[in-house]
Amino acid sequence: MKARQRIILSILLVNLLLAAFAMGQSRREINFPDILGYKTLKCDLHMHTVFSDGSVWPPVRVDEAFREGLDVISITDHIEYQPHKEDVPTNHGRSHELAVSRARERNILLIRGAEFTRETPPGHFNAIFLNDVNSLAVEHLLEGIKIANKQKAFVFWNHPGWKPEHKGWFDFHTTLYENKLMHGIEVVNGGSYYPEAHQWCLEKNLTMMSNSDVHQPLTRLETSPENHRSITLVFARERSIDAVKEALVQGRTTVWFKDQLIGRKKYLDAIFKGAVEIGKPYNKYKDTIWVEIKNSSDVDIDLEKAGKLGPGKLTLPANTTTLLKTGTGAEEEDEAPAQIELSYNARNFLIAPGKGLPVILTIHLN
Ligand SMILES: [Zn+2]
Ligand SMILES: [Zn+2]
Repeated sequence: MKARQRIILSILLVNLLLAAFAMGQSRREINFPDILGYKTLKCDLHMHTVFSDGSVWPPVRVDEAFREGLDVISITDHIEYQPHKEDVPTNHGRSHELAVSRARERNILLIRGAEFTRETPPGHFNAIFLNDVNSLAVEHLLEGIKIANKQKAFVFWNHPGWKPEHKGWFDFHTTLYENKLMHGIEVVNGGSYYPEAHQWCLEKNLTMMSNSDVHQPLTRLETSPENHRSITLVFARERSIDAVKEALVQGRTTVWFKDQLIGRKKYLDAIFKGAVEIGKPYNKYKDTIWVEIKNSSDVDIDLEKAGKLGPGKLTLPANTTTLLKTGTGAEEEDEAPAQIELSYNARNFLIAPGKGLPVILTIHLN
């Protein structure tokens, strides 16, 4: 082959490779509104790789997060449990290091983390925003958690209902809590929701977390409002690691679990208001009106009537416009008010265990 032909051929090959690379880089988006002046970041802060008992190489976690529309992850391999250590040498900070350049390429914020893995009770704890993971490998758990706190880590209690026979708040948790060494709790871990943890977060002003704790490769091709990764929505000043930390410390989170959002009332209320848009009536007959209600979030909103007007039950499916027909309550046409308010309970926006968010659908009549 002549030199010129070789050059042309290599240019063609490079172009082909670039085209393939460009095609492979699309991601799904998770839709929740930014609220209260903050950016809503989608975070999974608990997952494993071959460096503990997971079954994937670290950069794969970044690729999965990118595909699924996440902004932030933390690889939190077990410090005390390494079933692959004959093949993968013990180096507790290594899984993070191996994922750093992939995270940069995929625009994923990667937080350095680890999981303390002791007997239950007191159970497992994650420490994230660490400087040095190896320094946590000490004999006593309390000492390790203190070292993490010296590194200004954010520490949270993992899967508190994992072993039902040991479930509960123990003296060890009181020690951590009273000394401000523990800052959050997983209200959700993978497919499990822990109502008692939800209640503790409300009572003790701890940050509500939800993470996948994934060990296997994530092979989900499609997601739906009921079937998706369990993640934490973090309301941050900007899309940066420092801003995520500040938001976690301040407790600005909401949990997205199956078909539910779980969190503090002010954040759920803001998500509802940001996601739901009510049009003006497009049709009217006597005291009956028709309006469009758009839900631009990824959660199906399940409403139950709490007032006099509107249908008894109303579902606003995710990313969908729903037509609502309702009476205005006006006796005669010329009495029609400027607006009407429909009181509902958003049953799958949990502001406390078993308690939905009260909402008002305001319809402007002219
Ligand atoms: Zn664990
Ligand atoms: Zn874990």
